[in-house]
Amino acid sequence: MSEFDQEYFPHKESQELLRSYKTIWALNHATSLLSWDQETYMPEDGVFERSIALSEIATLIQRLITDKSFLEKIEALEKIEDPTIYERALIRVLRRSLKYYLKVPPEIIAEFSKTASEANVVWRNARKENNFEKFKPYLDKLVSLNIKIADYLGYEKNPYDALLDLYEEGLTADEFKRIVDKLVPGLKKILDKILSDGYFSRPCPLENMSYDVNVMRKVNEKILEIFGYDRRRLRLDVSAHPFTTNMGIRDVRITTRYEGIDFRRTMFSVIHEFGHALYELQIDERLSFTPLASGVSMGIHESQSRFWENIIGRSREFIYAIYDLLADNLDLRGKYDVEEIYRYFNIVRPGLIRVDADEVTYNFHIVLRFELENMMINQEIKTEDLPELWNDYMEKLLGIRPKTYSEGVLQDIHWSSGSIGYFPSYSLGTLIAAHIRDKMSKEIDLADNVRNLRFEPVKKWLREKIHMYGSIYPPRELLKRSLDIEVDPTVFLRYLEEKFLLK
Ligand code: MG
Repeated sequence: MSEFDQEYFPHKESQELLRSYKTIWALNHATSLLSWDQETYMPEDGVFERSIALSEIATLIQRLITDKSFLEKIEALEKIEDPTIYERALIRVLRRSLKYYLKVPPEIIAEFSKTASEANVVWRNARKENNFEKFKPYLDKLVSLNIKIADYLGYEKNPYDALLDLYEEGLTADEFKRIVDKLVPGLKKILDKILSDGYFSRPCPLENMSYDVNVMRKVNEKILEIFGYDRRRLRLDVSAHPFTTNMGIRDVRITTRYEGIDFRRTMFSVIHEFGHALYELQIDERLSFTPLASGVSMGIHESQSRFWENIIGRSREFIYAIYDLLADNLDLRGKYDVEEIYRYFNIVRPGLIRVDADEVTYNFHIVLRFELENMMINQEIKTEDLPELWNDYMEKLLGIRPKTYSEGVLQDIHWSSGSIGYFPSYSLGTLIAAHIRDKMSKEIDLADNVRNLRFEPVKKWLREKIHMYGSIYPPRELLKRSLDIEVDPTVFLRYLEEKFLLK
């Protein structure tokens, strides 16, 4: 009896490779749980020991995956003549995780990880103190390390491509630039119309309304129940920054936070993270314990969270359907009608902070970061020029100018962790979510299902088109096979026009 699915992995070479991988899988499983605990229940000082435990495990994983005998098992599988698509995917995914370790020298990896953990602490303080000078030397070092890493990884045209590929398989700066060139003018037109009309941009008192955390906890739980909350496989907890993590297909965890004011923030965090969780929960169980049992890319993952958050959660149908739930629990009846709640959830207004941005302005924040990263990695700009460039660009895109570094160049955690090339996947996800809505609506009555809070058909569609495949197909191929699309911003722009201009 073979240990792993005989139909997917019929060759003894793949069975043996997966058998060895199982230890790595277990260490990843433990890492996820330790990291989840660190963000949720661990007492604060536990971080001293926890960070050591996590870095020891990371080193162990690296040692196991680059071990000669493990590499030989991959090579043995590469030699067989008739691999299944699952076996081919196994090779692709493992080669991708190995690429970094085999091409980038260990001393660079060590220096990078040391610099990033120091930079992260410095950044936190620098942001608090609005002090860019303090963070700058670390950013300089992380940029130059990223340039070195890009060189080791290799690229055809642009070193930034090598970094983009780490987060979104196959994405290039040229391709993203083509998307941006279509997206930005379209977004500007839509934003101008929304602002001159004023309906979606004017303030709503609910933005400043405080709420009882216990009440909101109940509302969030109720919303998960409406979506089909399988408590045997999913749980909701609280953390400083909302996130999703998966221990496996049968144990996925999401978090939210309760700020006590502006209740849509906690509610939409829950819906967003639910979208990420559902992706992991609906992966084909026959892929369990293999490196294929997780979402294929950041972009596809973000498309799932955005689909639930924006396309479903912020739709008129959904808000009408849950109005009673909100009105009864939050004492809104007689004060705010359903149309005002709809408007509150969909306020569009240029702001300085990416994570607070609405559906229309969000992508401007990404475009700005993409352009700056691309220039930094190509050594066309110096980090000392970043704050001014950031502010000029912000003014050009959204007509507002940060007054402090903290609401400008210092706002995101990504660069301080050494992540350069990550941001574009957020935009891709948003655009893909609009494609999904477009395709899904042709096959099932999405609006009617949402209006009746019937989510089984929606979940089934997502499972069959995207979720079940895990990492079997590279993101671009998955989109081509399942949706027959290449990412095209016009679908997203059309969605925004329908929603905000033809209201
Ligand atoms: Mg997300």
